[in-house]
Amino acid sequence: MIYDLVIIGAGPAGLTAGIYARTKMMSTLILDAGVVGGQLVNLYPEKGIHNFPGFETIQARKLSDKLYAQAESMECEIHEMEKVIDLKQTGQNITVKTNKTEYVTKSVIISIGMGMFKPRRIGCKGETEFEGKGLSYIMPLKEDIVGKKIVVFGGGNSAIEMAMIAGKVADTTIVHRRTEFRANESNVSKLKNSRVKTIMETELQSVNGTDHITSVTLKQGNENIEIPTDLVVISIGISANLDDLKGWDIELTESGLIKVGPDMSTSRRGVYACGDVVDYPGKCKQIITGCGEAGTAVLSAHKFVKKPYWA
Ligand code: NAP
Repeated sequence: MIYDLVIIGAGPAGLTAGIYARTKMMSTLILDAGVVGGQLVNLYPEKGIHNFPGFETIQARKLSDKLYAQAESMECEIHEMEKVIDLKQTGQNITVKTNKTEYVTKSVIISIGMGMFKPRRIGCKGETEFEGKGLSYIMPLKEDIVGKKIVVFGGGNSAIEMAMIAGKVADTTIVHRRTEFRANESNVSKLKNSRVKTIMETELQSVNGTDHITSVTLKQGNENIEIPTDLVVISIGISANLDDLKGWDIELTESGLIKVGPDMSTSRRGVYACGDVVDYPGKCKQIITGCGEAGTAVLSAHKFVKKPYWA
């Protein structure tokens, strides 16, 4: 069988691409090296999403479940735990080589997000020692933090949203190194009206304890202060792991992301991309924009594969 489209990555952008492709009746295979859902399930499954149209609030995991169900109902073929290793040109078609087998397709959409991403580390004393023993990079389950003291580090949307979730059941403090937050104004405003305590212009010096965390040492100007805590969450962004892309004969930016045109085409014929893995002037990393780019990528792939009279 020759597919019309193989989509690599089953996060919100990849699943949206699948849904759109099926409205064009393109035979569509979606492959993911892990499980369906991307960052929605791997990074912040418990978090409420407040800015996805159609839902006042929806838990990240539930949004992933809904996108998955919609893609399946539209008859997308979806394979989890299947990692793409290479994209080989086979005449006019592309052979997608995975760790399990090979598929021939007329077009490809790459939507691998940040790849098999890793949380960014802060690099302080005690960070490695206490990882998994009270220090984490994602929000611990609510039931594990009830009544505890927790300190969250970071100034972006993720850190603030995690701190506000924790603040409902735990004594929570957020620490940021600047005078103001980077996060959306609406999140900052909600934080100010929440029970979460805020410490600004302060950096993490060390995580302290014996077999478990007892305190953190913070640097404020020239002074060091120690505050007691049971748990530490570091949320200072994620580092992409996109090394796989280097061998796929696609032009990348200096930061290793995929360069795309306004129609989401890459430098390789028949290969399109969308979501966090792409970069272009004005790029905005939001779920909604990744999904929008997915629609554009599919329409471009459809024109390339089906060559409709109006295109
Ligand atoms: P982010 O926006 O990149 O923010 C990372 C934060 O960590 C920044 O405030 C940064 O400080 C701080 N930081 C970085 N390195 C640090 C260090 N060594 N020590 C102390 N602080 C450090 O990351 P994110 O919050 O994970 O979000 C990633 C992307 O997803 C963003 O584009 C974000 O808007 C988006 N997102 C959106 C939503 C939403 O719309 N609701 C929710 C989650 C994520 P500086 O500010 O000083 O650089």
